[in-house]
Amino acid sequence: MASTKLPQHDYDIIIIGGGPAGFTAGIYAARAGLKTLLLEGASTVSQITITDLIENYPGIPDGINGLDLMQLFKSQALKFGLEILSQDTRSISKSDSEPALWIVNAGDKSFQTLSIIAATGAQWRKLGVPGETEFAGKGVSYCATCDGPFYRNRDVVVVGGGDSAIQEALFLTHFATRVTVVHRRDRLRAAAILQKRAFAEKKIEFVWNAVLAEVAGGDFVTGAKIKDVVSGEMKTINAEGVFIFAGRLPHTSIFHNIVQQDNAGYIITNDTMNTSAAGIFAAGDCRAKLFRQVVTAAGDGANAAFSAELYIGNLKGEAY
Ligand code: NAP
Repeated sequence: MASTKLPQHDYDIIIIGGGPAGFTAGIYAARAGLKTLLLEGASTVSQITITDLIENYPGIPDGINGLDLMQLFKSQALKFGLEILSQDTRSISKSDSEPALWIVNAGDKSFQTLSIIAATGAQWRKLGVPGETEFAGKGVSYCATCDGPFYRNRDVVVVGGGDSAIQEALFLTHFATRVTVVHRRDRLRAAAILQKRAFAEKKIEFVWNAVLAEVAGGDFVTGAKIKDVVSGEMKTINAEGVFIFAGRLPHTSIFHNIVQQDNAGYIITNDTMNTSAAGIFAAGDCRAKLFRQVVTAAGDGANAAFSAELYIGNLKGEAY
């Protein structure tokens, strides 16, 4: 097929987001010889960089600090020629050209690109109570799969009553001595099957109609101060871990009205990471899916880059 003349553009791919999905997409795209820019947020950090120890990423049997793992992703991507810019992406729009280009406005710059990979991630909803930020990584956690094994034979508190809270509480019973679920209502939001399992689990206790008021501790967490929302009474539950599952917030506002999203704001893709908009792909925690882990984000990133490569090959008339 003969090469097609395309409108003037700055990049083949712009990847938005500097977490495992974004950098994996960057490694694959740059290695494929595509002119690729990765925009990492100037005012946000990937969730992985605040994870103390990742011990379930394949190939690293001794585990690795989240920030160190991201540095490895980044140096590997740079080796293949990925361009990186620390700027918050402000908006995305479509050009009037044929074929249309995507215009990405980041900081005070504007770029035209053939395709975009959204890898903007999601973050756990914070409760904003005293001690929550101070003890992050020192007993406060938002991921039982990541941190559960550190609480072998210890007491932990789980905050929340949804599927995540109850599924993670069940997972924590593999390690912890006692798991106290603190929920603001008198019944759970979680699916019936999870509720049934949790009620049958001897290690799980429930404190109803209560909210987390403060995380207490010295160098590390020693307890959760909770408040009864009916009586106003305060009490402290001794625990070395406080796991908070109050829902997640995807970073997808710049994609509103551009790609289809689910009710919670996650970007809907097919299994090759195509979104509802031609030339926009999504990878990692910002897309609607079941399991959000470093390894699944990396897999998404590779798939998104490959799909973008096929898309660009078709646009350029270079598809094999
Ligand atoms: P979620 O369903 O939004 O539940 C969040 C929980 O946190 C709710 O119980 C909520 O209380 C509580 N909460 C929110 N803000 C709070 C606050 N300020 N103080 C105290 N508690 C607060 O979130 P999720 O459990 O992470 O689930 C998200 C989505 O993923 C859901 O669609 C879920 O079905 C899905 N998911 C599925 C599975 C599975 O299929 N196995 C596993 C995990 C997640 P209220 O109930 O009072 O609102």
